[in-house]
Amino acid sequence: MKVGRKKLMLNFPTLITTIFSLIIILSFLPQNVNAKPPPNPVQCNGKVCTLKNGYGVWGDRRDCTSPSISYPTTEEELRLAVANANRNKLKVKVVTKFSHTIPKLACPSSKTNQTTLISTERYNSHIEIDTKNMVVTVDAGVSLRDLTNKVEGAALSLVAAPYWEGVTVGGLISTGAHGSSWWGKGGAVHDHVVGISLVVPGKESEGFAKVLWLEGNDPLFKAAKVSLGVLGVISKVKLSLEPAFKRSITYDFTKDDDIEQIYVNHAKKFEFGDITWYPSKYTAVYRYDNRVDINTSGDGINDFLGFQSQSVLVSMATRSTEKAFENSKDEKGKCTMATTFMAYKQTIANGLKNNKLIFTNYPVIGTQANIQASGSCLYSSPLRLDLTCGWDPRIKGLSFYETTAIFPATKFGDFIKDVKKLRDLITPQKLCGIDIYNGFLVRYIKASDAYLGQHEDSVVVDFNYYRGDDPNIPRLNQDVLEEIEQIAFFKYGAKPHWAKNRKLAFLGVPKKFPNWNKFVEVKKQVDPQGMFSSEWSDEVLYGENRENGDGCALEGLCICSEDKHCSPSKGYFCKPGFLYSNARVCRFSQGEILSSNLDLGVIS
Ligand SMILES: Cc1cc2nc3c(=O)[nH]c(=O)nc-3n(C[C@H](O)[C@H](O)[C@H](O)COP(=O)(O)OP(=O)(O)OC[C@H]3O[C@@H](n4cnc5c(N)ncnc54)[C@H](O)[C@@H]3O)c2cc1C
Repeated sequence: MKVGRKKLMLNFPTLITTIFSLIIILSFLPQNVNAKPPPNPVQCNGKVCTLKNGYGVWGDRRDCTSPSISYPTTEEELRLAVANANRNKLKVKVVTKFSHTIPKLACPSSKTNQTTLISTERYNSHIEIDTKNMVVTVDAGVSLRDLTNKVEGAALSLVAAPYWEGVTVGGLISTGAHGSSWWGKGGAVHDHVVGISLVVPGKESEGFAKVLWLEGNDPLFKAAKVSLGVLGVISKVKLSLEPAFKRSITYDFTKDDDIEQIYVNHAKKFEFGDITWYPSKYTAVYRYDNRVDINTSGDGINDFLGFQSQSVLVSMATRSTEKAFENSKDEKGKCTMATTFMAYKQTIANGLKNNKLIFTNYPVIGTQANIQASGSCLYSSPLRLDLTCGWDPRIKGLSFYETTAIFPATKFGDFIKDVKKLRDLITPQKLCGIDIYNGFLVRYIKASDAYLGQHEDSVVVDFNYYRGDDPNIPRLNQDVLEEIEQIAFFKYGAKPHWAKNRKLAFLGVPKKFPNWNKFVEVKKQVDPQGMFSSEWSDEVLYGENRENGDGCALEGLCICSEDKHCSPSKGYFCKPGFLYSNARVCRFSQGEILSSNLDLGVIS
């Protein structure tokens, strides 16, 4: 019997042209101040509160719930919330107003109803700047944007921050968030933290909860800097600052020859340098980015395209186009999309704006607060329902995975060489799916004394790629993406970013962090009953994975070891990698689909 695959006939040049035209037309409309803000990640209905991440869907697509939530506004209210939970033997998770961490770190246990959430949404009023000592102390619920604006108002700058401003200070340090730098204290924000107050469970004689002030060489401080929310509630964070400065940025779109040699010098030469690599296009974009004097003329901003408000129409059209190419296994269509988007990014300097309105020429010079982080899709009047962040879960917009691997600096060049070899083996078209998003974003983090930070100078690579609406439907060229993921995490032992990644990336993490045992010792000391733990945060911290159900490898919940972990009925079987033979990936095999379907009785 002939097994026919229904081919969706798509006029892809027309679709691409339509999306491109829509983007161009809409980008000239005033929009950034008028967009529907992201939904609150916690929704309560009187009986139960449901927590989602910023994308509206967790890795396993199962919601997290808790019967109650509290909203402290002061440190004492925070202490009382922890005391109350401790007295009543409730398990606790801290949630923020953003919930932009992708893994289920903030999810309370699903094994018991005895849980509660503590939100920092309303714990955000204090930003105290000590100009003489160049430090700022903030409530953990303060947003990155509020912090950086306030600091610059006092003629100071926060040197490190993630590129995305939809984060709270408590959330970002808890997960080791970073920008890019090997200079000074480096690109990770927690390495600029000089003190933390942490609310932990206490004895009855201590009122069931106490506030610890941590700083200096205290092992508790080294543990608390990056603590995944499992030690207690971070109440206040004290950060070091520097005199205010501006930055001067130029993007150089060029060939990708020799990235594997250039990346080290690039970081040494440019304080905030990064590299975006579009492998299917043989293109590298070097970001030449150094600080300049605050009096240098220039009032530019970095309004990164991916974080701008998008028209709902454009997001939906982009998504349905990509989906159609997925369904029809149309690599060429995906490659056209990638080419179009890359060209557009080059035209608009990926969102850099010389005068806050449009890009005219390089370099773009602006203040540290206006250049380091962006996220204009966050701000909004709820009146404009036609504009949102591209991934807003209320529209049928973008849905993607984020893989973020952190390499010892010395090994990163070999990873690049491997991806190039793989590209030669499989044809570059199979990598277009990555280039539709942001290619490989390469950034730098300096060695840190945080137990769950990077113990050596490191290079971080992020890449995003299509996630389907249906977890049971395999993705086009998913074998290639899985192989790259496994090359990163298992061939080169890269560490996963705690706030990103699919579940498999956390396998074996304890062995990757030399101070992991010290972290767990501190955890036992400050939270002996495991009040701040859940099976979800254990999954990440302990890197255990017992998932082995049918299709578990399709969404990265496991690495396949048998065909059933892929999708034999749809022609995806568990196979070794093309280059890294230890990899096990789900690969489409037209030849095997027929016999498999016959075996399974799907066709007769
Ligand atoms: C679009 C996008 C872009 C991103 N870009 C970057 C980037 O450039 N660089 C980067 O490194 N990361 C990036 N991230 C990841 C992001 O920085 C982290 O997910 C960050 O932790 C999110 O902060 P949040 O305030 O939303 O915290 P949440 O996601 O709500 O919480 C994170 C964790 O911290 C815990 N937590 C939060 N507050 C406290 C507290 N006060 N005390 C104790 N525990 C607490 C929570 O329980 C949870 O475990 C990005 C994420 C997205 C969605």
